[in-house]
Amino acid sequence: MSKKDIFQKILKKPASVSVEEVAWVLEDDSLNEPLFEIADEVRNLYLGKDVYLRGIIEFSNYCRNDCLYCGIRSSNSKVSRYRMSVDEILNTAKFIAENGCGTVVLQSGEDPFYNDEMIAEIVHRIKKLDVAVTLSIGERSFKEYKTWREAGADRYLMRHETADEELYKQVHPADDFNIRKRHLEMLKQLDYEVGTGCIVGLPHQDDLSLAKDILFTYEFDSDMVGIGPFIPHPDTPLGKEKPGSLMKTLKVIALTRLFLPDSNIPATTALGTIDPRGRQLALNCGANVIMPNFTPVFYRPRFTIYPNKVCIFESDAQCRDSIKDLIETAGYKAVESQGFRRRVHENSSRRI
Ligand code: SAM
Repeated sequence: MSKKDIFQKILKKPASVSVEEVAWVLEDDSLNEPLFEIADEVRNLYLGKDVYLRGIIEFSNYCRNDCLYCGIRSSNSKVSRYRMSVDEILNTAKFIAENGCGTVVLQSGEDPFYNDEMIAEIVHRIKKLDVAVTLSIGERSFKEYKTWREAGADRYLMRHETADEELYKQVHPADDFNIRKRHLEMLKQLDYEVGTGCIVGLPHQDDLSLAKDILFTYEFDSDMVGIGPFIPHPDTPLGKEKPGSLMKTLKVIALTRLFLPDSNIPATTALGTIDPRGRQLALNCGANVIMPNFTPVFYRPRFTIYPNKVCIFESDAQCRDSIKDLIETAGYKAVESQGFRRRVHENSSRRI
């Protein structure tokens, strides 16, 4: 089989594609142009030119975890920690709803200070604004996930980070990939729209390892997939490592679009951070979501999971307007819709 035939195989018989075949595509840069073209074609066919906006509030940078790559890991004593009050969170959510975003994303480190009742109350009150609510607050109990789903939460974003079990252990020494998978399964069982995703360019990660990420998101049938480059944070054990590459990240996005034609794939902030054109390029390679940051400017510079994050010092209005410009310049249209995954039936879904 020629390498270009692999794209037809992914589109027509994704379940039969091997991890080695995906790794070949990742290795061979002569395939970049046709890969990006076909990913854009698939995205336009299934999702049109719409780009969903998800306004994000990073409401706490306290974290009980100690992920080796993350700037807000518990053992980084240089972080100036903050927690937003319930009222601050609700006021910010209202501002997001008034500013053309159909989804409010609540993100934090793993911070048990916000117990099940507090999160349920926040979700319940945000739902009155007629927006979708996404939680991205890490691993909690089944009972808590259930309470929040019943309070109205629509989606849960929990990147799998890496589907390479050995690498997962290296960067989360106290954790295990199988535990992460169990949490993702629980969320699916509760009928959340579930988001997975990975970091591209972690130390010791190779193309075979990234191919496992792509196949994992396909096999899990992820409703959303967040893919961003690794950006070394100086105050972490991986601070002196090389960052992930723009091109490899775009390839992982494009391949993911071929495997999951109707899923939501964000053009991530991390891509915009390593390259000023990163998010536009991602939109041209299959991405269809952007997450403007509405964390109050007073707190925003303190949610430093990696350095030099884009939009850190812009006002909310500047951030919103620059994102709308970015979307239009790339040839797409920002829409206010809540942006749920619109599943295309398996039999009619392989149309290219
Ligand atoms: N605590 C929640 C969880 O565990 O799902 C969500 C918050 S976490 C800070 C958000 C995401 O940031 C992680 O899933 C990880 O992929 C990403 N991240 C953290 N440090 C990073 C780094 N140095 N480079 C790139 N991405 C990073």
